[in-house]
Amino acid sequence: MLRKKIIAANWKMYKDLAEANDFFTFFIEKLPKTKAEILIAPSFTCLWHAFETTRDYPIEIVAQNLHQANQGAYTGEVSAAQLKSVGIQRVLIGHSERREYFGENDALLKEKVNTALKNEMNVIFCVGEKLSDRKSGNHFEVVKSQLQNALFHLNKTDWKHIVIAYEPVWAIGTGETATPQQAQEMHQFIRQTIAGTFGSATADAVSVIYGGSVKPDNAVSLFSQPDIDGGLVGGASLEVDSFIEIIKAL
Ligand code: PEP
Repeated sequence: MLRKKIIAANWKMYKDLAEANDFFTFFIEKLPKTKAEILIAPSFTCLWHAFETTRDYPIEIVAQNLHQANQGAYTGEVSAAQLKSVGIQRVLIGHSERREYFGENDALLKEKVNTALKNEMNVIFCVGEKLSDRKSGNHFEVVKSQLQNALFHLNKTDWKHIVIAYEPVWAIGTGETATPQQAQEMHQFIRQTIAGTFGSATADAVSVIYGGSVKPDNAVSLFSQPDIDGGLVGGASLEVDSFIEIIKAL
């Protein structure tokens, strides 16, 4: 099964408009030929500009979040329709920073997934265990329940719009990376878990990407694992050169 290869940048709450513009100017100049899909998730304030700037290039601009309601009195929030109105077709849901700092639990994430799919958006759904889960040997169970609670009500067609990002929380922004073996083992488990409910044809078609301190010097060994279909990159995506090196590693 030929799954889509994906390298996605998560810029979190970094880069203002001028900084994003500088990034795109150099990034477009240096963009390597690749079979990977290149996704970049800037802050809301840069989405429209980023979309306009990259529209003639093989770069997809992605949102970092959406609200689960279609519209309403939700001060400070952004809806799927609003994202689509500025060209955005895909959204990150379930990032550990949203789970941890904004109290987003599985039930809410399920609602957000439903809203995204209803609005014909694609989803990068993030899962991953905390250090304490791994230390206690619970990491497989934690990831399984994150998948089951937010995604297992979907149908097989819905799964065509889902990418899974496995991001062990202990590896995000810490400089500590899962070993290629730890990551491969979890990616294979995720695929088997999906296959158990939806069948292997569906599971084999879902891209599962790894996130957690992906850097130019560890990207090749991670991406060469059979069940790792690319990466979700935070810190190392903020600099053009390091992000380009990671793209080249796929
Ligand atoms: C992330 O934010 O999704 C991430 C993986 O960050 P970092 O690459 O900085 O660990």
